[in-house]
Amino acid sequence: MAYDIETKCIHLEEKEPTCDKSGAISFPIYQTATFAHLGLGKSTGYDYSRLQNPTREQVEKVVANLEGGADAVAFSSGMSAIAAVMELFHPGDHLIVDDDLYGGSVRLFLNISNKNGIEVTSVNLSKESAEPYIKENTKAIFMETPTNPMMNVIDIRKISEAAKKSNLLLIVDNTFLSPYFQNPLKLGADIVIHSGTKYLGGHNDTIAGFVVSGTREIAEKIRFIIKTTGAGLSPFDSWLILRGIKTLAVRMEKAQENALRLALWLKDRPEVVRTIYPGLTDHPGYQIMKKQTRGFGAMLTFEVSSKELVEQILKKVKIIQFAESLGGVETLITYPITQTHADVPPESLAKNGINDRVLRLSVGIENSEDLIGDLEQAFR
Ligand SMILES: *Cc1c(COP(=O)(O)O)cnc(C)c1O
Repeated sequence: MAYDIETKCIHLEEKEPTCDKSGAISFPIYQTATFAHLGLGKSTGYDYSRLQNPTREQVEKVVANLEGGADAVAFSSGMSAIAAVMELFHPGDHLIVDDDLYGGSVRLFLNISNKNGIEVTSVNLSKESAEPYIKENTKAIFMETPTNPMMNVIDIRKISEAAKKSNLLLIVDNTFLSPYFQNPLKLGADIVIHSGTKYLGGHNDTIAGFVVSGTREIAEKIRFIIKTTGAGLSPFDSWLILRGIKTLAVRMEKAQENALRLALWLKDRPEVVRTIYPGLTDHPGYQIMKKQTRGFGAMLTFEVSSKELVEQILKKVKIIQFAESLGGVETLITYPITQTHADVPPESLAKNGINDRVLRLSVGIENSEDLIGDLEQAFR
């Protein structure tokens, strides 16, 4: 019997024990660098914690199970996970990337990947097909949906058909919705990436990343890369993510409920020029979301009438914290132009409508009336 996603956040499937041999309900933190062998050719299955550690292995099994992947590998950050995936490519390879991505991914592609001879072309995949941009040396398509911060929705099935026709890998950063709301592998993606720092951890208390592979063949390559380059998640951080995931379902439901409330409230405010939340029926991606996800998430973006108002809001919010990051129980407000997207070229920002009046909210699980009250006093 396959468990429902809510159960999978807490238990592995039947054969796999949720506890270790001791029966500990909370999986132990194996704080060790290395493992003893009982003799030549005899092994417990563990050699050295850069390669594998029981606590890391446990969180990897949970994440692979949540995404329906062949394997998941836990990294020390979302960026180290993305950097590891880029090691699959060689100088001379070309990638098509969506043009509204997490700023750190853009910085990686434009500075590190380019230096290593990997060429990227950015395309608005929510509006355009990838096909005209595919060249002889194109190896992969990289995207997020909904995108950061403009909440564009991309049809994963459609992009995956184009990718399959030309033998390209489809890589989806699924951080914004978490595996609770969206499973890109089931829609045709080959690799899923998470910044575990966000919804999986859920408490703004640690940094982590995941690469989930759809096939054993890709998984083997990722395993070789982590063993060689060494950015594995530590035992303690693995435990924090394991603990975070146990409440993923309830956190996502509550945060989503709050986000819809806030979106509807913002939409009616005279100071707000536009409210972008894919759970609003007039969002251009609403119908695609209905087809490919189980929910709309808790990220929303809005534009106010002036930069002065942005400054006022960021100064006056009390419950809502002015901070980078997302996906935690605390509601955070971000100013993309100076924070998450500071290193994105100005032309790209302008093209995507990211101006100095755009704010992003990661809605947490506080009381929604308290959140609205906080915004109301900050707007005044
Ligand atoms: C935060 C984030 C990352 C980077 O993850 P870190 O854990 O901060 O390294 C990558 N993609 C998205 C969509 C993110 O929000």
